[in-house]
Amino acid sequence: MFVYADNAATTCVSTAALNAMLPYLTNQYGNPSSLYSIGQEAREAVEQARKTVAQCIGAESREIYFTSGGSEADNQAIRSAAKAGARKGKRHLISTVFEHHAVLHTLKQLEKEGFSVTLLPVHEEGIVRLEDLEAAICEDTALVSIMFANNEIGTIQPVAEIGALCREKGIPFHTDAVQAAGHVPVDVGTMQIDMLSLSGHKFHAPKGIGALYAKRSQPLSSLIEGGGQERGKRAGTENVAGIAALAAALQESCANMEANTLKILSMREKLISALCRIPHSVLNGNMEHHMPGTINMCFEGIEGGNLLLLLDQKGICASSGSACNSGSLDPSHVLLSLGIPYEVAHGSLRLSIGEYNTPEEIDYLSREIPEAVAALRSSSPLWEAMECGQKPHLI
Ligand SMILES: *Cc1c(COP(=O)(O)O)cnc(C)c1O
Repeated sequence: MFVYADNAATTCVSTAALNAMLPYLTNQYGNPSSLYSIGQEAREAVEQARKTVAQCIGAESREIYFTSGGSEADNQAIRSAAKAGARKGKRHLISTVFEHHAVLHTLKQLEKEGFSVTLLPVHEEGIVRLEDLEAAICEDTALVSIMFANNEIGTIQPVAEIGALCREKGIPFHTDAVQAAGHVPVDVGTMQIDMLSLSGHKFHAPKGIGALYAKRSQPLSSLIEGGGQERGKRAGTENVAGIAALAAALQESCANMEANTLKILSMREKLISALCRIPHSVLNGNMEHHMPGTINMCFEGIEGGNLLLLLDQKGICASSGSACNSGSLDPSHVLLSLGIPYEVAHGSLRLSIGEYNTPEEIDYLSREIPEAVAALRSSSPLWEAMECGQKPHLI
Protein backbone atom coordinates (compact mmCIF):
# COMPACT_ATOMS: atom_id res chain seq x y z
CA MET A 1 0.00 0.00 0.00
CA PHE A 2 1.15 3.57 -0.69
CA VAL A 3 -0.03 6.17 1.83
CA TYR A 4 0.82 9.84 1.44
CA ALA A 5 0.48 11.33 4.92
CA ASP A 6 2.66 14.41 4.53
CA ASN A 7 0.18 17.01 3.28
CA ALA A 8 1.75 19.72 5.45
CA ALA A 9 4.94 19.37 3.35
CA THR A 10 3.16 19.50 0.02
CA THR A 11 0.04 18.15 -1.66
CA CYS A 12 -0.82 16.46 -4.94
CA VAL A 13 -2.09 18.70 -7.75
CA SER A 14 -5.88 18.46 -8.02
CA THR A 15 -7.68 17.82 -11.30
CA ALA A 16 -9.27 21.27 -11.02
CA ALA A 17 -5.85 22.92 -10.69
CA LEU A 18 -4.37 20.90 -13.55
CA ASN A 19 -7.28 21.69 -15.87
CA ALA A 20 -7.08 25.37 -14.97
CA MET A 21 -3.43 25.57 -15.92
CA LEU A 22 -3.38 23.44 -19.09
CA PRO A 23 -4.56 26.14 -21.56
CA TYR A 24 -1.72 28.45 -20.47
CA LEU A 25 0.83 25.67 -20.94
CA THR A 26 -0.44 24.89 -24.43
CA ASN A 27 -2.13 27.19 -26.93
CA GLN A 28 -2.76 30.23 -24.69
CA TYR A 29 0.89 30.95 -24.05
CA GLY A 30 0.75 34.73 -24.44
CA ASN A 31 2.63 37.12 -22.20
CA PRO A 32 0.11 39.11 -20.10
CA SER A 33 2.01 42.30 -20.98
CA SER A 34 1.52 41.81 -24.73
CA LEU A 35 -1.21 43.74 -26.48
CA TYR A 36 -2.48 41.10 -28.93
CA SER A 37 -5.33 38.77 -28.03
CA ILE A 38 -3.53 35.78 -26.52
CA GLY A 39 -1.55 38.19 -24.35
CA GLN A 40 -4.67 39.96 -23.19
CA GLU A 41 -6.40 36.63 -22.54
CA ALA A 42 -3.53 35.65 -20.30
CA ARG A 43 -3.86 38.98 -18.50
CA GLU A 44 -7.55 38.36 -18.02
CA ALA A 45 -6.81 34.94 -16.54
CA VAL A 46 -4.41 36.53 -14.04
CA GLU A 47 -6.95 39.21 -13.08
CA GLN A 48 -9.73 36.67 -12.75
CA ALA A 49 -7.48 34.55 -10.50
CA ARG A 50 -6.68 37.62 -8.40
CA LYS A 51 -10.40 38.20 -7.90
CA THR A 52 -10.95 34.57 -6.89
CA VAL A 53 -8.10 34.57 -4.37
CA ALA A 54 -9.32 37.87 -2.93
CA GLN A 55 -12.84 36.49 -2.49
CA CYS A 56 -11.56 33.36 -0.75
CA ILE A 57 -9.85 35.38 1.99
CA GLY A 58 -12.16 38.41 2.22
CA ALA A 59 -9.83 40.85 0.49
CA GLU A 60 -10.08 43.14 -2.55
CA SER A 61 -8.49 42.10 -5.85
CA ARG A 62 -6.01 44.96 -5.79
CA GLU A 63 -4.72 43.74 -2.42
CA ILE A 64 -3.44 40.43 -3.88
CA TYR A 65 0.11 40.09 -5.28
CA PHE A 66 1.26 36.82 -6.83
CA THR A 67 4.67 35.55 -5.74
CA SER A 68 6.81 32.45 -6.28
CA GLY A 69 5.45 30.89 -3.08
CA GLY A 70 5.02 31.22 0.66
CA SER A 71 8.68 31.94 1.36
CA GLU A 72 8.80 34.91 -1.00
CA ALA A 73 5.53 36.29 0.39
CA ASP A 74 6.90 36.04 3.94
CA ASN A 75 10.14 37.75 2.94
CA GLN A 76 8.35 40.57 1.14
CA ALA A 77 5.81 41.21 3.89
CA ILE A 78 8.43 41.39 6.63
CA ARG A 79 10.96 43.42 4.68
CA SER A 80 8.30 45.88 3.54
CA ALA A 81 7.08 46.49 7.09
CA ALA A 82 10.64 46.78 8.38
CA LYS A 83 11.50 49.34 5.71
CA ALA A 84 8.34 51.35 6.36
CA GLY A 85 8.97 51.22 10.10
CA ALA A 86 12.57 52.32 9.76
CA ARG A 87 11.44 55.42 7.83
CA LYS A 88 9.57 56.44 11.01
CA GLY A 89 12.44 55.41 13.28
CA LYS A 90 10.72 52.19 14.35
CA ARG A 91 13.11 49.26 14.33
CA HIS A 92 11.48 46.64 16.56
CA LEU A 93 9.90 43.48 15.15
CA ILE A 94 7.82 40.90 17.02
CA SER A 95 7.30 37.28 16.00
CA THR A 96 7.31 33.85 17.64
CA VAL A 97 9.95 31.22 18.32
CA PHE A 98 8.21 28.58 16.21
CA GLU A 99 7.72 30.34 12.88
CA HIS A 100 8.71 28.81 9.56
CA HIS A 101 12.32 29.52 8.60
CA ALA A 102 11.12 31.85 5.82
CA VAL A 103 10.09 34.18 8.65
CA LEU A 104 12.80 33.38 11.21
CA HIS A 105 15.70 33.70 8.79
CA THR A 106 14.36 36.96 7.36
CA LEU A 107 14.17 38.34 10.90
CA LYS A 108 17.69 37.10 11.64
CA GLN A 109 18.94 38.96 8.58
CA LEU A 110 17.11 42.13 9.62
CA GLU A 111 18.74 41.86 13.05
CA LYS A 112 22.11 42.06 11.30
CA GLU A 113 20.81 45.16 9.52
CA GLY A 114 20.11 46.91 12.83
CA PHE A 115 16.59 45.85 13.77
CA SER A 116 15.75 44.34 17.15
CA VAL A 117 13.58 41.24 17.25
CA THR A 118 11.43 39.81 20.04
CA LEU A 119 10.39 36.18 19.57
CA LEU A 120 7.40 35.32 21.74
CA PRO A 121 7.24 31.94 23.50
CA VAL A 122 4.48 29.53 22.56
CA HIS A 123 4.33 27.57 25.85
CA GLU A 124 3.74 23.81 26.18
CA GLU A 125 0.80 23.66 23.81
CA GLY A 126 2.20 25.75 20.99
CA ILE A 127 -0.08 28.77 21.31
CA VAL A 128 0.94 32.41 21.69
CA ARG A 129 -0.53 34.29 24.64
CA LEU A 130 -2.02 37.75 24.12
CA GLU A 131 -0.50 39.03 27.35
CA ASP A 132 2.99 38.11 26.10
CA LEU A 133 2.32 40.00 22.89
CA GLU A 134 0.93 43.00 24.71
CA ALA A 135 3.98 43.11 26.98
CA ALA A 136 6.37 42.91 24.02
CA ILE A 137 4.80 45.78 22.07
CA CYS A 138 6.61 49.09 22.44
CA GLU A 139 6.77 52.54 20.84
CA ASP A 140 9.31 51.28 18.29
CA THR A 141 7.39 48.19 17.14
CA ALA A 142 7.13 48.21 13.35
CA LEU A 143 5.57 44.77 12.79
CA VAL A 144 3.94 41.79 14.45
CA SER A 145 4.33 38.60 12.38
CA ILE A 146 2.63 35.53 13.85
CA MET A 147 1.79 32.41 11.88
CA PHE A 148 -1.85 31.38 11.47
CA ALA A 149 -1.23 27.67 11.92
CA ASN A 150 2.03 25.97 12.74
CA ASN A 151 3.40 23.60 10.10
CA GLU A 152 4.82 21.00 12.47
CA ILE A 153 2.29 20.67 15.27
CA GLY A 154 -0.72 22.23 13.54
CA THR A 155 -1.74 24.57 16.35
CA ILE A 156 -3.91 27.52 15.32
CA GLN A 157 -3.10 30.88 16.85
CA PRO A 158 -5.68 33.38 18.18
CA VAL A 159 -5.35 35.39 14.97
CA ALA A 160 -8.47 37.57 15.35
CA GLU A 161 -7.46 38.58 18.88
CA ILE A 162 -3.92 39.33 17.74
CA GLY A 163 -5.33 41.35 14.82
CA ALA A 164 -7.57 43.35 17.14
CA LEU A 165 -4.72 44.11 19.52
CA CYS A 166 -2.38 45.19 16.71
CA ARG A 167 -5.07 47.36 15.10
CA GLU A 168 -5.72 49.05 18.45
CA LYS A 169 -2.01 49.77 18.84
CA GLY A 170 -1.61 50.86 15.21
CA ILE A 171 0.95 48.15 14.41
CA PRO A 172 0.90 46.24 11.10
CA PHE A 173 0.06 42.55 11.54
CA HIS A 174 1.38 39.93 9.13
CA THR A 175 0.41 36.28 9.32
CA ASP A 176 2.02 33.34 7.56
CA ALA A 177 -1.17 31.49 6.63
CA VAL A 178 0.53 28.97 4.36
CA GLN A 179 -0.78 26.01 6.37
CA ALA A 180 -4.19 27.55 7.02
CA ALA A 181 -5.33 28.90 3.66
CA GLY A 182 -7.76 26.55 1.92
CA HIS A 183 -8.04 24.40 5.06
CA VAL A 184 -9.58 26.59 7.77
CA PRO A 185 -11.62 29.80 7.45
CA VAL A 186 -9.44 32.85 6.80
CA ASP A 187 -10.93 36.35 6.60
CA VAL A 188 -8.52 39.27 6.52
CA GLY A 189 -11.32 41.73 7.25
CA THR A 190 -12.89 40.29 10.39
CA MET A 191 -9.51 39.04 11.62
CA GLN A 192 -7.95 42.49 11.05
CA ILE A 193 -4.95 41.11 9.16
CA ASP A 194 -2.79 43.64 7.30
CA MET A 195 -0.60 41.19 5.38
CA LEU A 196 -0.96 37.46 4.75
CA SER A 197 1.14 34.83 2.96
CA LEU A 198 -0.23 31.77 1.24
CA SER A 199 1.23 29.07 -1.01
CA GLY A 200 -0.41 27.02 -3.75
CA HIS A 201 1.27 23.68 -3.15
CA LYS A 202 -0.22 23.34 0.34
CA PHE A 203 -3.73 23.19 -1.12
CA HIS A 204 -3.36 21.16 -4.33
CA ALA A 205 -1.91 23.75 -6.73
CA PRO A 206 1.63 23.23 -8.06
CA LYS A 207 4.82 24.24 -6.26
CA GLY A 208 6.36 27.62 -7.02
CA ILE A 209 3.28 29.82 -6.88
CA GLY A 210 1.96 31.79 -3.92
CA ALA A 211 0.36 35.07 -3.00
CA LEU A 212 0.81 37.95 -0.65
CA TYR A 213 -2.20 39.89 0.55
CA ALA A 214 -1.37 43.43 1.63
CA LYS A 215 -4.06 45.80 2.82
CA ARG A 216 -4.43 48.84 0.58
CA SER A 217 -2.99 51.17 3.20
CA GLN A 218 0.00 48.89 3.80
CA PRO A 219 3.23 50.08 2.14
CA LEU A 220 4.79 47.31 0.08
CA SER A 221 8.28 47.35 -1.35
CA SER A 222 9.57 45.13 -4.11
CA LEU A 223 12.14 42.36 -3.55
CA ILE A 224 12.77 41.96 -7.27
CA GLU A 225 13.49 44.81 -9.65
CA GLY A 226 12.51 44.68 -13.29
CA GLY A 227 9.29 45.24 -15.18
CA GLY A 228 6.15 46.76 -13.75
CA GLN A 229 4.21 43.53 -13.16
CA GLU A 230 2.00 43.16 -10.07
CA ARG A 231 1.58 46.94 -9.99
CA GLY A 232 5.31 47.43 -9.63
CA LYS A 233 5.58 45.30 -6.50
CA ARG A 234 6.86 42.07 -8.07
CA ALA A 235 8.79 42.21 -11.32
CA GLY A 236 8.95 39.26 -13.69
CA THR A 237 6.60 37.80 -16.29
CA GLU A 238 3.66 36.29 -14.44
CA ASN A 239 3.45 32.53 -13.87
CA VAL A 240 0.09 32.53 -15.66
CA ALA A 241 -0.49 28.76 -15.50
CA GLY A 242 0.51 28.62 -11.83
CA ILE A 243 -1.66 31.60 -10.98
CA ALA A 244 -4.69 30.07 -12.70
CA ALA A 245 -4.06 26.77 -10.89
CA LEU A 246 -3.64 28.46 -7.52
CA ALA A 247 -6.97 30.26 -7.85
CA ALA A 248 -8.81 27.12 -9.00
CA ALA A 249 -7.33 25.03 -6.19
CA LEU A 250 -8.06 27.63 -3.52
CA GLN A 251 -11.61 28.07 -4.74
CA GLU A 252 -12.19 24.32 -4.69
CA SER A 253 -10.62 23.90 -1.25
CA CYS A 254 -12.70 26.73 0.19
CA ALA A 255 -15.92 25.46 -1.40
CA ASN A 256 -15.37 21.98 0.09
CA MET A 257 -13.83 23.10 3.35
CA GLU A 258 -16.62 21.98 5.67
CA ALA A 259 -17.03 18.54 4.13
CA ASN A 260 -13.26 18.02 3.92
CA THR A 261 -12.79 19.08 7.53
CA LEU A 262 -15.39 16.59 8.79
CA LYS A 263 -13.85 13.77 6.79
CA ILE A 264 -10.29 14.60 7.78
CA LEU A 265 -11.13 15.10 11.47
CA SER A 266 -12.76 11.70 11.74
CA MET A 267 -9.71 10.02 10.14
CA ARG A 268 -7.40 12.00 12.43
CA GLU A 269 -9.29 10.93 15.55
CA LYS A 270 -9.19 7.29 14.57
CA LEU A 271 -5.48 7.42 13.88
CA ILE A 272 -4.70 9.26 17.11
CA SER A 273 -6.59 6.74 19.20
CA ALA A 274 -4.57 3.92 17.63
CA LEU A 275 -1.21 5.66 18.03
CA CYS A 276 -1.83 6.84 21.57
CA ARG A 277 -1.99 3.20 22.62
CA ILE A 278 1.75 2.98 21.96
CA PRO A 279 3.35 3.06 25.43
CA HIS A 280 5.53 6.05 26.32
CA SER A 281 4.17 8.19 23.53
CA VAL A 282 2.83 11.74 23.63
CA LEU A 283 0.62 13.79 21.33
CA ASN A 284 2.04 17.30 20.88
CA GLY A 285 0.13 20.53 20.47
CA ASN A 286 -3.28 21.75 21.54
CA MET A 287 -6.31 19.49 21.49
CA GLU A 288 -8.80 22.25 20.68
CA HIS A 289 -7.12 24.73 18.35
CA HIS A 290 -5.51 22.62 15.65
CA MET A 291 -5.46 21.99 11.92
CA PRO A 292 -7.92 19.24 10.96
CA GLY A 293 -5.30 16.86 9.59
CA THR A 294 -2.04 17.45 11.47
CA ILE A 295 -0.81 14.98 14.07
CA ASN A 296 2.53 15.34 15.83
CA MET A 297 3.70 12.70 18.27
CA CYS A 298 6.86 11.68 20.09
CA PHE A 299 7.78 8.08 20.81
CA GLU A 300 10.40 7.53 23.44
CA GLY A 301 13.49 5.43 22.78
CA ILE A 302 13.54 5.80 19.00
CA GLU A 303 15.03 8.12 16.39
CA GLY A 304 12.50 9.92 14.19
CA GLY A 305 14.73 9.61 11.13
CA ASN A 306 14.93 5.82 11.50
CA LEU A 307 11.17 5.61 11.88
CA LEU A 308 10.72 7.54 8.62
CA LEU A 309 13.03 5.16 6.77
CA LEU A 310 11.18 2.13 8.09
CA LEU A 311 7.81 3.68 7.20
CA ASP A 312 9.09 4.49 3.73
CA GLN A 313 9.80 0.78 3.24
CA LYS A 314 6.13 0.16 4.01
CA GLY A 315 5.06 2.79 1.45
CA ILE A 316 4.21 5.43 4.06
CA CYS A 317 5.24 9.07 3.50
CA ALA A 318 5.50 10.99 6.76
CA SER A 319 7.80 13.57 8.31
CA SER A 320 9.70 14.03 11.53
CA GLY A 321 9.39 17.79 11.50
CA SER A 322 9.37 20.29 8.72
CA ALA A 323 10.54 19.06 5.32
CA CYS A 324 13.07 21.87 5.21
CA ASN A 325 14.82 20.44 8.26
CA SER A 326 15.15 16.87 7.14
CA GLY A 327 18.74 15.95 6.69
CA SER A 328 19.75 17.82 9.82
CA LEU A 329 20.27 15.77 12.98
CA ASP A 330 19.06 18.45 15.38
CA PRO A 331 15.52 18.02 16.63
CA SER A 332 13.06 20.56 15.32
CA HIS A 333 13.12 24.09 16.75
CA VAL A 334 9.34 23.87 17.00
CA LEU A 335 9.31 20.87 19.33
CA LEU A 336 12.11 22.32 21.45
CA SER A 337 10.13 25.57 21.73
CA LEU A 338 7.34 23.62 23.45
CA GLY A 339 9.79 22.60 26.16
CA ILE A 340 9.95 18.99 24.98
CA PRO A 341 13.24 17.45 26.18
CA TYR A 342 15.90 17.04 23.49
CA GLU A 343 15.90 13.21 23.72
CA VAL A 344 12.12 13.03 23.41
CA ALA A 345 12.01 15.52 20.51
CA HIS A 346 14.37 13.18 18.62
CA GLY A 347 11.62 10.56 18.42
CA SER A 348 9.05 12.73 16.66
CA LEU A 349 6.65 11.89 13.86
CA ARG A 350 4.40 14.27 11.94
CA LEU A 351 1.49 12.85 9.97
CA SER A 352 -0.66 15.24 7.97
CA ILE A 353 -3.86 13.82 6.58
CA GLY A 354 -5.73 15.33 3.65
CA GLU A 355 -9.06 14.85 1.91
CA TYR A 356 -7.45 12.45 -0.56
CA ASN A 357 -6.65 9.94 2.18
CA THR A 358 -9.05 7.05 2.74
CA PRO A 359 -10.25 5.15 5.83
CA GLU A 360 -8.40 2.07 4.50
CA GLU A 361 -5.17 4.05 4.51
CA ILE A 362 -5.83 5.13 8.09
CA ASP A 363 -6.27 1.47 9.07
CA TYR A 364 -2.96 0.68 7.41
CA LEU A 365 -1.19 3.51 9.29
CA SER A 366 -2.84 2.43 12.56
CA ARG A 367 -1.38 -1.06 12.10
CA GLU A 368 2.02 -0.32 10.62
CA ILE A 369 3.21 2.60 12.73
CA PRO A 370 2.92 0.84 16.13
CA GLU A 371 4.68 -2.15 14.58
CA ALA A 372 7.50 0.03 13.28
CA VAL A 373 7.93 1.77 16.64
CA ALA A 374 8.08 -1.60 18.42
CA ALA A 375 10.65 -2.91 15.93
CA LEU A 376 12.91 0.10 16.40
CA ARG A 377 12.60 -0.07 20.16
CA SER A 378 13.57 -3.72 20.20
CA SER A 379 16.95 -2.78 18.74
CA SER A 380 17.44 0.46 20.70
CA PRO A 381 20.03 0.46 23.53
CA LEU A 382 18.37 3.57 24.95
CA TRP A 383 14.99 1.87 25.09
CA GLU A 384 16.55 -1.22 26.71
CA ALA A 385 18.18 0.95 29.39
CA MET A 386 14.80 2.54 30.11
CA GLU A 387 12.98 -0.75 30.21
CA CYS A 388 15.36 -2.28 32.73
CA GLY A 389 15.31 0.83 34.90
CA GLN A 390 18.86 2.11 34.25
CA LYS A 391 17.42 5.27 32.71
CA PRO A 392 14.14 6.96 33.62
CA HIS A 393 11.31 7.24 31.13
CA LEU A 394 10.66 10.90 30.39
CA ILE A 395 7.15 10.38 29.00
C1 LIG B 1 5.45 25.48 3.33
C2 LIG B 1 5.48 26.67 4.22
C3 LIG B 1 6.14 27.87 3.84
C4 LIG B 1 6.93 27.96 2.57
O1 LIG B 1 6.13 28.01 1.43
P1 LIG B 1 6.80 27.71 0.00
O2 LIG B 1 5.72 27.97 -0.98
O3 LIG B 1 7.23 26.28 0.04
O4 LIG B 1 7.94 28.66 -0.14
C5 LIG B 1 6.09 28.93 4.69
N1 LIG B 1 5.42 28.87 5.86
C6 LIG B 1 4.78 27.77 6.26
C7 LIG B 1 4.05 27.77 7.55
C8 LIG B 1 4.79 26.63 5.46
O5 LIG B 1 4.16 25.52 5.87
